[in-house]
Amino acid sequence: MDRDRLLARLTGRRICRSCGATYHVLFNPPKAEGVCDKDGGELYQRSDDTEEKVGTRLDEYTSKTAPLLAYYEGKGLLREVDGEKDIDAVTADISSLLRG
Ligand SMILES: [Zn+2]
Repeated sequence: MDRDRLLARLTGRRICRSCGATYHVLFNPPKAEGVCDKDGGELYQRSDDTEEKVGTRLDEYTSKTAPLLAYYEGKGLLREVDGEKDIDAVTADISSLLRG
């Protein structure tokens, strides 16, 4: 996934102040903007989900985490999931891989 798409996904997360439910402004929006579907609580953006902080997190992923892909692939332990599918499909794919 390219960096711009990752930024859009990561900066769109919103969290309910009262129950902690998570939403996404593009991919999993609440019925009313800024309001939790479950309890009417206020939705907010975590301070580490801002574009600047997410950019730093992506840089750290590239330098520190991405190299692990080749390491685990070499050991035959890498499993890949298509994160571009909708949430239920991604969940089903992960569950299927974990069942082995
Ligand atoms: Zn809530």
